[in-house]
Amino acid sequence: MPGPRLDPKITAQWARVRGLLRSEVGDASYRSWLKPLTLVSVIDGTAKIAVPTRFMRDWVVSHYGDRLRELWVGENSSIDVIDIFVQTPTTRPLNRPVEKKADEPSQTGPSASGGEARPEISAPLDPRFTFSNFVVGKPNELAYAAARRVADSDNAPFNPLFLYGGVGLGKTHLMHAIANHTRGKFPERRVVYLSAEKFMFHFIRALRFKDTVAFKEQFRSVDLLMIDDVQFINGKEATQEEFFHTFNDLVDNNRQVVISADKSPSDLEGMEERLRSRLGWGLVADIHATSFELRLGILDVKAERLGIDIPVKVKEFLSHRITSNVRELEGALNRVVAHAELVGREITLETCQEVLHDILRANDRRVTIEEIQKRVSEHFNIRIADMHSARRARAVARPRQVAMYLAKQLTSRSLPEIGRKFGGRDHTTVMHAVKKVEELRQTDSAFCEDVDLLRRMLEG
Ligand code: ADP
Ligand code: MG
Repeated sequence: MPGPRLDPKITAQWARVRGLLRSEVGDASYRSWLKPLTLVSVIDGTAKIAVPTRFMRDWVVSHYGDRLRELWVGENSSIDVIDIFVQTPTTRPLNRPVEKKADEPSQTGPSASGGEARPEISAPLDPRFTFSNFVVGKPNELAYAAARRVADSDNAPFNPLFLYGGVGLGKTHLMHAIANHTRGKFPERRVVYLSAEKFMFHFIRALRFKDTVAFKEQFRSVDLLMIDDVQFINGKEATQEEFFHTFNDLVDNNRQVVISADKSPSDLEGMEERLRSRLGWGLVADIHATSFELRLGILDVKAERLGIDIPVKVKEFLSHRITSNVRELEGALNRVVAHAELVGREITLETCQEVLHDILRANDRRVTIEEIQKRVSEHFNIRIADMHSARRARAVARPRQVAMYLAKQLTSRSLPEIGRKFGGRDHTTVMHAVKKVEELRQTDSAFCEDVDLLRRMLEG
């Protein structure tokens, strides 16, 4: 809340800055970190902004400081310094509910209590994220097996289980699956699942309300604690410290801890060394980028669940072209299915390309025909100029065909467009190349491996 002495113009600018930040960072982060900021004064080009704790100040400065300043300057070019300082509230702010003593959160399922009740410590679980809905393939088999073991055991088999991998590859799904399974099998166990951001949010609330003892108690009476996206606990001594102690307590008492992150423990930046090494003590299981086979398998399962027949060609096309992650693949499938239902048409390769036009372009941006030509020439050790030349010797014609094939598979260029990029060839030449490579892939396994290798390299 702006203080009473602020110029209304400044107050309006501040409101806009906050509005912009809110739309950039999302509601949850905004509420945790930005809403509590109080603009105190703007004098001589310095905007003074108060925060309630030192921890929050550090966090806001390191995560939002630069952006805050940019936005302010955009609103008011006379401002050049943003001074974020700690002002401990002497009285409890009026607009906040008075904190009740913890109603012992006995059950940790999605809490239906409305209004201002203390928020449930565990985030709600998604009932669709189960083991049986998880498609297992080479890239995720270790993570899956480890998750199952944890969920089936009555003593913590490895502590912690640390799952890591890129975005959209199933970390959250596996964690919810562990929680769902455990709650079914051992209903008396207290299972808590929450994001690292939420963990910090609870902790900071506790600090603000001088309620840290209750906070610690809440976590220390848990049988299975899962913290998702732990890469967000970084840099901040106080929470790291708290996290470390909570963690040690649980592990010492043989309670299971499961952690996920986008990097391995040793690569977690901004995390204290002792915490990093501690996180790696149990089992570290990584989830690799999806393979073509896994993507195809996932589409099979999802299509079956939707009760929809999808032509194999379409599934293959999607698996080839939407390689970034499973979330996007699912999204694409849902769109294709929804479209077909709405317009009452069958799902074909053509409708699929049409409906997904934007996603395909976005997946494309990473690979250009030029890159394909360069990689393929390097791989077969020919000159890049031979991609465009008229030479028909097998030693250059075959790599050229491979490049055309990959251009068709990995970009959304049309056959004539591809032909043009290969020395102005006709689209029928490209079509012939695609067919030829497909045939060879069936009959020549070494060739097939070569092409797959190139594809993987190009997909990065
Ligand atoms: P992460 O937490 O690693 O970013 P999520 O667990 O949120 O990824 O997964 C993104 C989406 O992809 C979810 O809808 C999830 O169900 C789905 N998904 C990911 N991997 C698989 C898999 N192997 N089998 C089935 N669905 C998967
Ligand atoms: Mg996740």
